[in-house]
Amino acid sequence: MHMGKTLLQKVWDLHTVRQLPTGQTQLFIGLHLVHEVTSPQAFDMLRGSRVGDPGGRSSRVLFPNRTFATVDHIVPTLDQRRPFLDVLAEEMISSLERNCREYGIPLYNIDSSSQGIVHVIGPELGLTQPGITIACGDSHTSTHGAFGAVAFGIGTSQVRDVLASQCLALEPMKVRRIKVTGPLAPGVYAKDVILEIIRRLGVKGGVGYAYEYAGDTIERMTMDERMTICNMSIEGGARAGYVSPDATTFKYLEGRQFAPQGDAFARARAWWTSMATDADARFDDEVVLQASEIEPNVTWGINPGQSVRISQRIPDPARAPATESAGIAEALEFMDFRSGQPIAGTRIDVAFIGSCTNARLSDLREAARIARGQHVAPHVKALVVPGSQGVRMAAEREGLDRIFVEAGFEWRGAGCSMCLAMNPDRLEGRQICASSSNRNFKGRQGSPTGRTLLMSPAMVAAAAIAGEVTDVRKVLEPVGVGS
Ligand code: SF4
Repeated sequence: MHMGKTLLQKVWDLHTVRQLPTGQTQLFIGLHLVHEVTSPQAFDMLRGSRVGDPGGRSSRVLFPNRTFATVDHIVPTLDQRRPFLDVLAEEMISSLERNCREYGIPLYNIDSSSQGIVHVIGPELGLTQPGITIACGDSHTSTHGAFGAVAFGIGTSQVRDVLASQCLALEPMKVRRIKVTGPLAPGVYAKDVILEIIRRLGVKGGVGYAYEYAGDTIERMTMDERMTICNMSIEGGARAGYVSPDATTFKYLEGRQFAPQGDAFARARAWWTSMATDADARFDDEVVLQASEIEPNVTWGINPGQSVRISQRIPDPARAPATESAGIAEALEFMDFRSGQPIAGTRIDVAFIGSCTNARLSDLREAARIARGQHVAPHVKALVVPGSQGVRMAAEREGLDRIFVEAGFEWRGAGCSMCLAMNPDRLEGRQICASSSNRNFKGRQGSPTGRTLLMSPAMVAAAAIAGEVTDVRKVLEPVGVGS
């Protein structure tokens, strides 16, 4: 009897080299994306290994034509002239330049119009395609699953493995389908959907799973929105997250630099279509969410699952399930919040619109819609950091930069910036930051005691102007606002 397959099963089967005695699968990796922070050590390890060593690794990059590099994590966003004032940034980028030259790897460097955050430029260049496997030394590689790719974040030694062998040893995964149905209300965005999913299923709820996002809400989403959803799969504990490819995916890819061209595109489209999850596929688990129940979400704690809807209050550890109460108490103490306190009205010090979750053109358009004709509150420092040079240039063509600058935001060069604060963009002391990024862990934004509230870019813009967390739905123009 024919049994339908999920996209994960199809991609996994097609990329399996062999089953390993450990129970893992040796999986071929179609595309390897590299950046300046997790690669220098991996290249050093590669140089240290030789054919015939116990691991069987060579000192060459096996598929330089499947390997692409960019600079994003540590690049300054204020002054990008070389040499950078930050000695460590200069060192890391020089090291990546040397490695790319030596091994024949294309590098989208700071002077390239294609430079940007690795998870933003992969799709922009058309490198990210349905039905392939992708690896990158950054947790949020799950972003690329929006295209129906199976994409994994990997550690430094695995970066070395992929450079040397183009393979990874991976545990098989189960698939949980997460269906979202119905229209999203104006002012409710993809970011709110994924924060809602993570809160409901927990930050460890996805361990052992890949998340397949489906349902008419997801089907109506643009590729930018699907990328926001898949990006944060890892924050829910899932190793990967994906959406089956469809007409929206193909339209996005058509004409992009590395996408197949002409007749080859038509052939690729037919194959990509065949990789979508079959209608009769079985899932290991299924969860259904109603979009109408979702409001703008804001995190109040120290992991992305500790969020509330904007109309709600911060929870009470005494009323929480036993497994959560200690975590809530720890978060309340760190954040200096009280249980029962409404999240709306929380005073902020910094507003950050950026990161591979939410720094694409559509994100900046929505934020600019809120910022237009307004002004950032006097006590707030506000930054807009485009996800790529491409986003930056497109936004400037539309005049979004002027809207932000006139409203008192700083308009920066492309990079990861305050998502992980490896460059000078960082919180100071106990500052509270309204942030469109993906992690609110202690110390994530540069200050060990700094506090991060995750939310959509439109919510960040609204908070920057009000000087406090506010419901973006109250400030949206009533007409023409989509999600
Ligand atoms: S923006 Fe943040 S999560 Fe995304 S690639 Fe950069 S550091 Fe990683």
